[in-house]
Amino acid sequence: MPAVLKIAVPAPLRRLFDYLPARSGDLPAPGCRVEVEFGRRTLIGVVCAIGEPEQPNQKLKSIKKVLDDTPVIDPDLLVLCQRIADYYHHPIGDVIATALPSLIRQGQDARVSGELFWCLTERGHYADVSALARAPRQQQALELLKQHRLGVAMPMLTALDIPRSALQALEKKGWAELREMIPEHLTSETLLSEVPLSASVEQQAAISALQEAKGFAPFLLDGITGSGKTEVYLQAMTPLLAAGKQILVLVPEIGLTPQTVRRFEKRFNVPVESLHSGMTDRERLHGWVRSRQGDAKIILGTRSAIFTPLQNPGMIIVDEAHDGSFKQQEGLRYNARDLAVWRARMLDIPVVLGSATPALETLYLAEQGRYRHLHLRERAGDANPPTLKLEDCRQLPGNTPISPRSLEAIRATLNAGQQVLVFINRRGYAPVIQCNDCGWQAECPRCDTFLTWHKSFGKLVCHHCEHERRVPAHCPSCGSSALTDAGSGTEKIAEQLQKALPKFPVLRIDRDTTRRKGALDEALSKAHAGGASVLVGTQMLAKGHHFANLALAIVLDADGGFLSADFRGPEHSSQLILQVAGRTGRAQHAGTVIIQSRHPEHPLLHTLLSGNYATIARTLLQDRQMTGLPPCGHLAMLRSESLKAAESFELLSDLASIEVDPRVQMLGPIPAPLERRQGRYRFQLLMRADHRAPLHGAIEQVLTVLEQHPLARRCRWNLDVDPLDML
Ligand code: ADP
Ligand code: ZN
Ligand code: ZN
Repeated sequence: MPAVLKIAVPAPLRRLFDYLPARSGDLPAPGCRVEVEFGRRTLIGVVCAIGEPEQPNQKLKSIKKVLDDTPVIDPDLLVLCQRIADYYHHPIGDVIATALPSLIRQGQDARVSGELFWCLTERGHYADVSALARAPRQQQALELLKQHRLGVAMPMLTALDIPRSALQALEKKGWAELREMIPEHLTSETLLSEVPLSASVEQQAAISALQEAKGFAPFLLDGITGSGKTEVYLQAMTPLLAAGKQILVLVPEIGLTPQTVRRFEKRFNVPVESLHSGMTDRERLHGWVRSRQGDAKIILGTRSAIFTPLQNPGMIIVDEAHDGSFKQQEGLRYNARDLAVWRARMLDIPVVLGSATPALETLYLAEQGRYRHLHLRERAGDANPPTLKLEDCRQLPGNTPISPRSLEAIRATLNAGQQVLVFINRRGYAPVIQCNDCGWQAECPRCDTFLTWHKSFGKLVCHHCEHERRVPAHCPSCGSSALTDAGSGTEKIAEQLQKALPKFPVLRIDRDTTRRKGALDEALSKAHAGGASVLVGTQMLAKGHHFANLALAIVLDADGGFLSADFRGPEHSSQLILQVAGRTGRAQHAGTVIIQSRHPEHPLLHTLLSGNYATIARTLLQDRQMTGLPPCGHLAMLRSESLKAAESFELLSDLASIEVDPRVQMLGPIPAPLERRQGRYRFQLLMRADHRAPLHGAIEQVLTVLEQHPLARRCRWNLDVDPLDML
């Protein structure tokens, strides 16, 4: 029997395909890309294994072409991809496609020899700088390129605060281009480019534990906000970098935490690669190759960076490991935090999950002794933890979002020259517009939800499907002009605060004010400038920032998550509130947090006041134990949506009736919390078990039926293993 190639192709099928080599005996190694005929198309696939044909008598096609003479996917990543495909029951071809930069997927060469520099094109040399008078950033960039005829590297642009959007605009005009060049050799003899802080006793204990780790060793670095977790990472990785090893650091969102990124860049004289969403495909490929070749020593990126190939891996760090952004919510629904631990195990290196508010999943594993639990219980330097206060808002009129006492505290803080953060996790001006005469409310025609009024855009917008319409002047139902809004979002809060505090700047930071390229950086640098001012924002402001002069935070609408139908609501709300609280009092002055609540009797809110996350987590874990919910049980969610409700429902009902292992519960189908979205009716079937093995067996059974089911083609379905939110 001749050997065949087992090939993963980018198609939605959960299997490998057999092909013959182009010439018999000439077998490309696993990890090489090949061109194959698949149906009527030619696709680029990846050799995953070499073996016997699945069906001995089947006539097999030969591959058309081998693209690589050495594997472009390293063996460890190939194993990781296979494990992911098994665990998430996802097509291997799509897993590999998720793991690779798009240019590699398209067959581009996987070697680079230099760094990327922005240069003037031939036409750019003759471009007139004054023609850009109305685009000052582009003008600045063009001037810079004219001064540096040999090209300008990325770090210089960052240092000069020239946004890449300006260079991309010049590129569109045909005046600038990215070129690959060999940089002058780095000639720094010393690894450290700044003096490390002198570690506290607690920090030192954590650093030593990390440095002494041999081989695979998972750690939970459980340190309160402001306890100096970054300093622990930096010092723990120093000897590894000195030994020439690479460090992979995952962060929730690079744009949101430029400070953290800069601290990694500043400490060491080594090439740092930061992978972020603003990169072009070419830059992404470059970063990938430089990591793979071992040229990049520190690789910083968001969740997809977990797939970065490493030549000489030393450690993986997941910062703010509780953050929901590590879970991909579409396509391959992986959790990069879990993948980080798998990958560290395969690479036999330490992995650190750092957080002030660890996910219950992580805490549970630490409690069981599967992760080593390191604590930082004190704030670094002279800073003290903030004081949390509950503000009873039961008597507060519905249209007054900020209580008089909160406003008083804001005023006092501003007058003392300090900064205030007002946190509300809702964008827009008001979440509802209604008619006072007939009770009409503006709803999305395609989703079961209200339209949010965005006053500055003059529009009503659906936050689920982006549907928008103009604000009506009269009630579309009864013609009355008595339309009013109810509830409040960031826009209204900022407007009201600006009216109440005319002398102080009020800065709103949310997805709407930061949509334009570069706007987020601008807003954050204004916020960091620090003077007496008010920051109004959504959870974008809760993550990792260090605003030195911020002394007071007001949390509006704290109740939502505690009363939510999602069993993780209380966990996520507690984390969010403590993260907001953690932004205050990070320097010499004390921080205060006022939590406004219309349900001040809620016991969890009282636990929260102690600021002690461990206590809350213990309470929540007891609940999970009783209900058998994660981490004390395991879930998989099958979702289906279709234009006709009956079709999705019937599909899931058929699956729910499959006889599976009795240790697995099939719950549903039930309508999704948002029952209709973009005109599609949505249902969900939840599978639960105490142990993973029977659950995965049942999933496999269900999927096998599902993939053959006639309704599967009429519905959009997806499987979510370890779902993070229940929507
Ligand atoms: P975390 O990530 O734990 O919230 P950070 O790493 O942002 O905390 O540290 C908070 C602040 O404390 C930073 O400004 C940092 O420079 C400072 N810091 C950290 N460690 C020390 C130390 N050992 N001595 C003095 N300041 C420190
Ligand atoms: Zn009306
Ligand atoms: Zn909608």
